[in-house]
Amino acid sequence: MEEGRGNGTLERLEEDGKKRGLPSRLIEFYIDILSVQKKGEKLIGRVNPGLKTDTINERLEKGRPLINFDELAIDWPILNDLLIQVTGVFTDYNDLFGELPESLTKPKPRKSLPKSVARAWFKGNRLPKSMATDDIDEHLMLEAIIHATLKPYMVSYAKSLAPLINQERWRRDYCPVCGGKPDFAFLDNERGSRWLLCSRCDTEWLFQRMECPFCGSQEQNDLSYYTDDKGLYRLYVCDNCHKYIKSIDLRVADPEVQLPLERLLTLDLDRQAQDEGYEPGNI
Ligand SMILES: [Zn+2]
Ligand SMILES: [Zn+2]
Repeated sequence: MEEGRGNGTLERLEEDGKKRGLPSRLIEFYIDILSVQKKGEKLIGRVNPGLKTDTINERLEKGRPLINFDELAIDWPILNDLLIQVTGVFTDYNDLFGELPESLTKPKPRKSLPKSVARAWFKGNRLPKSMATDDIDEHLMLEAIIHATLKPYMVSYAKSLAPLINQERWRRDYCPVCGGKPDFAFLDNERGSRWLLCSRCDTEWLFQRMECPFCGSQEQNDLSYYTDDKGLYRLYVCDNCHKYIKSIDLRVADPEVQLPLERLLTLDLDRQAQDEGYEPGNI
């Protein structure tokens, strides 16, 4: 079952990516990175976060995400192997992304992710000196690599924890599981309620339709959206913080739609938003 679904995802990415005119090199890159992550998820297996119901309720009540970095049971050999494979994929596609940041290659190729770096990334703090760089492009690539490396862990924990969220009570602008920011949204089938998708662990959570998930503005004058001819996609933009979030309307979408793939398949919307002067909110 898992296997079948995994393969389906990659095939779908290839087919839909082509249909939407994504560059074939980029589709190949996504397929390679997703394959590494799927294998990682399999190795990690089912995780048991071991949180008692009281602890879960207390954290959510106080607006604290359920995952606490120091409670993650990370198997470091698995994680380090993921780092090696992820950096391998980025190296294979240096025509798209440029050379790896020096902190990953010098004095020799890095074969492990320091815990302090993983923790800083998780908490959204500045990366420790051992890896930090002042070069913006290098920094973004480093973040992308750390993100791609830790993602299988984030997703595995989210699978166990997301079902425990009381959606009506959370409604905050960060992920109830890992505290990450959203990078995609959808309107649900039932009532067209708006949900957000976590950029780090793919958890979905219910959120207000008329509120910017990045600056919290609820001013009608700040908030608007663009939509395509079919009314399938929406680009929500905020003129207070100049951020945007892409969204799909599941009332119109193919029932087989896979949300984590949609964020990759809708690069055109990113381009449109950025042409209009808006920035992604999760960076
Ligand atoms: Zn999350
Ligand atoms: Zn805003």
